[in-house]
Amino acid sequence: MHKLSGDKVIYTFRTEMEPVLTMKPGEEVQVETNDCFYQQIQSEDQVMMEIDFDQINPATGPIYVEGAEPGDLLKVEILEIKVADKGVSGVVPGEGILGDKTKKPIVRIIPIQDGHAHFKGLKLPIKPMIGVIGVAPSKDDGDCPTETPWKHGGNMDTTDIAQGNTVYFPVNQKGALLALGDCHAIMGDGEICFTGLEVPARVRLRVDVIKDRKVNWPLIGTKDSTMVVASGDDVDRAIYNATDETVDLLSRALHMGFEEAYLLTSIGVHMRISQVVDPRKTIRSEIPHSIISTEKLIENI
Ligand code: CA
Ligand code: ZN
Repeated sequence: MHKLSGDKVIYTFRTEMEPVLTMKPGEEVQVETNDCFYQQIQSEDQVMMEIDFDQINPATGPIYVEGAEPGDLLKVEILEIKVADKGVSGVVPGEGILGDKTKKPIVRIIPIQDGHAHFKGLKLPIKPMIGVIGVAPSKDDGDCPTETPWKHGGNMDTTDIAQGNTVYFPVNQKGALLALGDCHAIMGDGEICFTGLEVPARVRLRVDVIKDRKVNWPLIGTKDSTMVVASGDDVDRAIYNATDETVDLLSRALHMGFEEAYLLTSIGVHMRISQVVDPRKTIRSEIPHSIISTEKLIENI
């Protein structure tokens, strides 16, 4: 198995990047990821806004996958996410949905033991996830900071990018150039105050290439559904983009006209909020396997 250490990071998904590791389809890699602050916050006395913001959202990589060409899909199976034994979370005036009501900044270092986050006497079962994961963007989209989600992935902050699930990215550049970071031990849909439980982690992945499949946005395959992960300048635009892509995928995979696929989306597909606090907002549309399996969907697009 390949290994990638946490000091090899990028802060921008560029159209052209120098890979730090080359893998063959079907191979596994263990990636060390940093928390979104690059571990700069170690005590509750620290003020979140006084850290070095040039070191925010490091993504470990990029990984070159042999055989991946523009127009293919990069398949990334998340085999395991092992998080550290403590994480950091915080609130900052002006940030998040209730930023206008937040009077003072707070930082909390939250212990993680026996599969639970321990906060104020509460025991919250953890559900580790990857906040930032993506590939090199297309020439049309151009370079994109790791803090911003878009068609190449990036800071999607989606709780279903978790162990046991598979993420599919449109390949824009030769080798795909995968990078990831910003794991959360636990996060609520929305990421309302702008932090999850931010943790360094060790992530085990298997990569593969599926030739000639046209998607515009990343997909997630879970045991129950396929999700289209789309972003936009606001939630309305994110829902528009997620719907547009969902209707297009269903009409191609199920050989339906636009209106029928649109109707099917309205009665059978669920629009769920991923995050509403990053520079673009993210929605995922959840297509249940009762409509079509992930495998069959991907086979037919
Ligand atoms: Ca994030
Ligand atoms: Zn994060």
